[in-house]
Amino acid sequence: MIPIAEALLDWYACHGRHDLPWRQSRDPYHLWLAEIMLQQTQVESARPYYARFLQALPSWQALAAAAQDQVLALWSGLGYYARARNAQRAAQEVVTRFGGHFPNTLEAAVTLPGVGRSTAAAVLASAFGHRQAILDANARRVLIRSHAIDADPKAAATQQWLWTLASALTPEDAHGYNQAIQDLGAMICTPRQPRCVACPLVDRCLAHAQGRSHALPAIVNKAPKPQRCAFFLLVVDTEGQILLEKRPDSGIWGGLWCLPQAAPDGGAFPVLCSGTLHPLEDTPAVRQSLQAAWSRRLGLNLQLRALEEEQQHVFTHFQLRFRCVHARVWGSAVADSAATLRWHRPADALAQGLPTPIRRILRERSGGC
Ligand code: SF4
Repeated sequence: MIPIAEALLDWYACHGRHDLPWRQSRDPYHLWLAEIMLQQTQVESARPYYARFLQALPSWQALAAAAQDQVLALWSGLGYYARARNAQRAAQEVVTRFGGHFPNTLEAAVTLPGVGRSTAAAVLASAFGHRQAILDANARRVLIRSHAIDADPKAAATQQWLWTLASALTPEDAHGYNQAIQDLGAMICTPRQPRCVACPLVDRCLAHAQGRSHALPAIVNKAPKPQRCAFFLLVVDTEGQILLEKRPDSGIWGGLWCLPQAAPDGGAFPVLCSGTLHPLEDTPAVRQSLQAAWSRRLGLNLQLRALEEEQQHVFTHFQLRFRCVHARVWGSAVADSAATLRWHRPADALAQGLPTPIRRILRERSGGC
């Protein structure tokens, strides 16, 4: 066997995370769901979501047929909601195109929405015993360090080289090896504090030999994230219900329920505000444009009241700065005026699929904020 694989498998046998719930199963649905949840989420954060999701939607068929609101509510808090929407589309395709079975070739598996090469390979190796290499963030970091690869890890040429390397190193027992390299990256060869003294590869690791374990993977200078600004409307009717708006399926927070949003100029979408001195300042002009925009769009007679302190939420490509605006509604609040607008009792609102910062605002309010 290839020496690195042997060392990793020996280490995994003693130290691996064999108790992870998705490792108790070889069912492709379970394995695929775990891979999707773990794409941008730590194991401990994903664990309760995985259990709840499987309990509510235990099969490809159940997920394919579920209401999107249910899927997003089950995903609410995990972030990167495109994963949830793609997961449901993938389940629908598994049912309609593949007869309810995860496709058993890499070429077919990567045609499913949200399933990249590494995700497909992980499922094929564990569910069907295929010799398929993975290259998730943990495996990539281990390979880059153990082979002292200096190049930009995101560059296409580096990716290609890493895939070639990963494929060459992966043994017949890809199922065990893939889990071993994932665990080594998560437990020992961690991003900031690699514990080389406890690593089974320490004798053959080039980064360690060169004293550069902390310096790899190379950090390519990143431009600062642009800032966008928005206000969120927290309006409560005379019965204590909160108005939520369903966001379009595509884009940030796609398909989730959210507080109605407006830019400082009254526009519907957050505006770029990098370099602006006080983009979310509480001025009569800003209040006027917000009140006019929301009253018109929501069909409500609103009176704006207090503005909360500014908060921030960081997305992959930009930073959102926002303030929550409290408002009262005059007269009898209109009935839900469109499929995308709905009044909710506070407990019902919290049971919807909500973006994390909106959930926080509503929780604070229900706690007496
Ligand atoms: S020796 Fe250190 S840097 Fe090299 S693979 Fe192990 S933990 Fe990572």
